[in-house]
Amino acid sequence: MSKGTLFDKVWDLHTVGTLPSGQTQLFIGLHLIHEVTSPQAFAMLRDRNLKVMFPDRTVATVDHIVPTDSQARPFIDSLAEEMMQELERNCKDNNIRFYNIGSGSQGIVHVIAPEQGLTQPGMTIACGDSHTSTHGAFGAIAFGIGTSQVRDVLASQTLALAKLKVRKVEVNGTLKPGVYAKDVILHIIRKLGVKGGVGYAYEYAGTTFEHMSMEERMTVCNMAIEGGARCGYVNPDAVTFEYLKGRDFAPTGADWGKAVEWWTSLRSDADAEYDDVVVFDAADIEPTVTWGITPGQGIGVSEAVPTADSWAEEDRVLAQEAYSYMDLAPGAPIKGTKIDVCFIGSCTNGRISDLREAAKVAKGRHVADGIKAFVVPGSERVKQQAESEGLDKIFEAAGFEWRNAGCSMCLAMNPDKLVGQQISASSSNRNFKGRQGSSSGRTLLMSPAMVAAAAIKGQVTDVRELL
Ligand code: SF4
Repeated sequence: MSKGTLFDKVWDLHTVGTLPSGQTQLFIGLHLIHEVTSPQAFAMLRDRNLKVMFPDRTVATVDHIVPTDSQARPFIDSLAEEMMQELERNCKDNNIRFYNIGSGSQGIVHVIAPEQGLTQPGMTIACGDSHTSTHGAFGAIAFGIGTSQVRDVLASQTLALAKLKVRKVEVNGTLKPGVYAKDVILHIIRKLGVKGGVGYAYEYAGTTFEHMSMEERMTVCNMAIEGGARCGYVNPDAVTFEYLKGRDFAPTGADWGKAVEWWTSLRSDADAEYDDVVVFDAADIEPTVTWGITPGQGIGVSEAVPTADSWAEEDRVLAQEAYSYMDLAPGAPIKGTKIDVCFIGSCTNGRISDLREAAKVAKGRHVADGIKAFVVPGSERVKQQAESEGLDKIFEAAGFEWRNAGCSMCLAMNPDKLVGQQISASSSNRNFKGRQGSSSGRTLLMSPAMVAAAAIKGQVTDVRELL
């Protein structure tokens, strides 16, 4: 069993008790809610005549269904408008802080909480969205939960959970130019598998993560869930504290020093015991692209789509399914694969540093003929910051559309959807069948800079050639 890890300490500090099922009743410090997974949970509360137990530990925003072009109300999509109104009503009735469109702070739930300093080391965080693992970048233990668990947290501020094992995922060394945090996590998932992390929390350690910015760490932790881990985290350090200092909800004055001392004490001990340790070398990672229908089906941009005989017995069925759905020839180089749509955004890669890296590639160039390319900032604050730096103008001059904040084509619950068998280069986190709004649409995951390169060339391109 893990011992002396940050996970262990935070878990113990938040344990309310042991339930008859053997699960832990875990106190949740911060509950983030949005329009998709909360309406039913509030309805269940109303049915039982229950109130939200800690409205001041609950924060709402709207992200999945918002249109990213015209945001005039009522929305054209009546279902989206209904969900929006429901969230507005539930927040008002329960005194919950709500970052609505136009507030200046609306955006994807996993972008807005860190940027406001709501996400802090040592916290337990829950949200009705799989990619809540993002918040682990701060040394928080953060879980994506289902609707009935959203109800539980609203009503009791606790969750019933089985304790996880801890795997230390160590990456050491300096990333080569053109290799980003997204490539690191796609490489890890490729090597450990999409189910490799089942039953585990992943602790990302080693010099590569130590040298990453908070936004890069968020990209990595965001996709912990895609590798099967229930959560992922990085131990808090000077980079974390520097990022948090001065943000809206960060401690101030004398409280700041106390907080830093406390947060530091939560780091995994030098002699912590892990249930498993894996080690990777940053030098082995190149810009990575998925060719299949899971985030684990990724390859370096210089590699070819794996051939049928390269698979272990247990992976063959999924590989065949991927060949037939993606319509990409086994053995063909991934580089040069023609693209129809390029999407830069999402809670994985819709932050300001992502847009800066993509803009470097787009600057002074133009999107290839016939390509639809668009950039969706992760939040209104990211949008505002990008515009103050002139990134919007760089993208527009290059032929990209510049949109408002939201999840957009990561999940396509808004009007941004692939059509037919279109193939997209996407900075999002899931390439599942039909994920981007068309039941036959195809998604290639990659870093935002790689998406920008694909947009310029109209095909999968090694971004290093354009840097
Ligand atoms: S950007 Fe995508 S993965 Fe992230 S919260 Fe929105 S839909 Fe979920």
